[in-house]
Amino acid sequence: MAKKKWQAPVKKNQILDVTITDLTYEGMGVAKIDRYPLFIQNALVGEDCQVKVVKVLKKFAFAIVLERYNDADSRVPLRDENGLRTGTMPLQHMAYPAQLAFKRQQVVNSLQKQGLLEQTEVLETIGMEEPWHYRNKAQIPIGQADGQLYTGFYRKGSHKLVPMTDYQIQLPGIDQTLQKVLAILNQYPISAYDEDAHQGLLRHLIVRQGYYTGQIMLVIVINGQNLPEEDEIVDTLKAQIPDLVSIVFNINQKNTNVILGQDQRVVYGEDAYEDRMFDLRFKISSKSFFQVNTSQAEKLYHQALTAADLKGDEVVVDAYCGIGTISLCLAQSAKEVYGVEVVSDAIDQARENAQINGLDNVTFKAGKAEEVIQDWVQAGLKPDVVVVDPPRKGLAEDFIQSVLEVQPEKIVYVSCNPATLARDLVKFVDQGYQLGKVQPVDMFPQTHHVEAVVGLTRN
Ligand code: SAH
Repeated sequence: MAKKKWQAPVKKNQILDVTITDLTYEGMGVAKIDRYPLFIQNALVGEDCQVKVVKVLKKFAFAIVLERYNDADSRVPLRDENGLRTGTMPLQHMAYPAQLAFKRQQVVNSLQKQGLLEQTEVLETIGMEEPWHYRNKAQIPIGQADGQLYTGFYRKGSHKLVPMTDYQIQLPGIDQTLQKVLAILNQYPISAYDEDAHQGLLRHLIVRQGYYTGQIMLVIVINGQNLPEEDEIVDTLKAQIPDLVSIVFNINQKNTNVILGQDQRVVYGEDAYEDRMFDLRFKISSKSFFQVNTSQAEKLYHQALTAADLKGDEVVVDAYCGIGTISLCLAQSAKEVYGVEVVSDAIDQARENAQINGLDNVTFKAGKAEEVIQDWVQAGLKPDVVVVDPPRKGLAEDFIQSVLEVQPEKIVYVSCNPATLARDLVKFVDQGYQLGKVQPVDMFPQTHHVEAVVGLTRN
């Protein structure tokens, strides 16, 4: 008998009534037809909606809400519909306490999947008092309409630039700076870059602002070597934006969606601005990673420091250290800190930051954490505490093995991805480490991203 070809239970453009029963980790509503899931944006658990199927795949389909028959208790009015269209604020329809609970649940789910829930407790997510206008960095594509340059964001899955001026989640100083820069650039014959045609000059504006210092860095990304009347433009920018301390022209003439090009010219100040965390000063260059939510990063680091519980005589490794933010916090209460990071620019900056803050008990090394830690271990380094803050993909297997070899008293894991966090924790727990409580921290309100900290202690 010929096997009947499997068919999805819904068709494209089909209209049907559904009840939302779950949320994906990205915060999309889930409704099931038999066992086949529909993923639906702007829909919360308990809501009954009429939806239209827009895309059908083998294991799931996407649908959009045509009509919502009832509101979940956690629903709040949209602040800006463009934040859903462009994906900048996919959770904005959820009340903030519900967002925090949702994020905690992501951590719980990941730990449960790995069988770790019995050995720990997941605390309530630490949120922001005012969960808006928090980002200290914006990378904004530029469009043009009727000859005027404008800021916006791409509609999800397209090259169509939706005009936006108040992004709701960026520091107000950043939104204001973007509009001032555009008003100035609009006085000159400057074309916006068109991704499809690979033509036009102005690609992106990147604005970073020190949350505590107010200092502003502006990076202008161009598909060319120069702007017209460049000196005049730079003078006007300086005159009209008093907090500006650095202007960088980044040259990106490639047909790519990578924002920054290799070459750049600093046309004002140096390639750095400054911000603070706790009582430490940090210089940050245009290419360096810096936590985008400064005040929440302080809360996150505070949790990491508490878990490290330093007495002053410890040797500490800070892996995936970036520009040395966590390393320097640790150095204030440890004997010695060793930081490792793969971006060598960031390591240069980490060293400069140690100097600026008068901390001489920190050693930084550029390289892959999994390789450098092996070198250190072979050279006889015996860390008492190992702090890790890896990217989303989590820890490399060799890295974990090296840590297990030296058996530090404590391991502190700062994670931006609960799934890889749980996967990695199992390996430490299996080798006799005991899990402390897991503390989620909300670094990215209105988005689905979750950050969490947990300490492990050797049994
Ligand atoms: N702890 C820092 C940075 C965390 S972001 C802070 O809080 O500011 C993660 C960092 O890991 C990034 O700086 C990234 O460049 C770095 N990284 C990514 N893969 C790495 C690897 N294999 N080895 C070392 N560092 C790596």
